[in-house]
Amino acid sequence: MSTAIKNRAGSGIRPSRVATRLKKGDTVLVTSGRERGKTGKILKMVAEKNRASVERLNMVKRHRRGQGVQNPGGIVEREATIHLSNLKLVCSRCNKPTRIGMRILEDGSKARQCHRCNELVDR
Ligand SMILES: [Zn+2]
Repeated sequence: MSTAIKNRAGSGIRPSRVATRLKKGDTVLVTSGRERGKTGKILKMVAEKNRASVERLNMVKRHRRGQGVQNPGGIVEREATIHLSNLKLVCSRCNKPTRIGMRILEDGSKARQCHRCNELVDR
């Protein structure tokens, strides 16, 4: 009974990083939650939390205190992060949500590849 593993916010134990092939700048589809079915561009990856913020999606209002003339405060809207498991890459070639595969190029480097059309995702 007392050996339950705690892994909640504030417990001090960080969630383990999930391997992701998503990158900043990718266009992604949200597959669940409030923004399900919408697409947007990844603005920021928060790898240690397995989350990313997506342009204009999952907006939250933050009440900011003013800090002088330059920074008057007020209510600002900003993107809250979305868990990576709820995001799917939208292929830039076939325009469909897809899983990402890896391909090893002739020079030995790895490149991301669309699982649907087998085209390289990064141009
Ligand atoms: Zn594709």
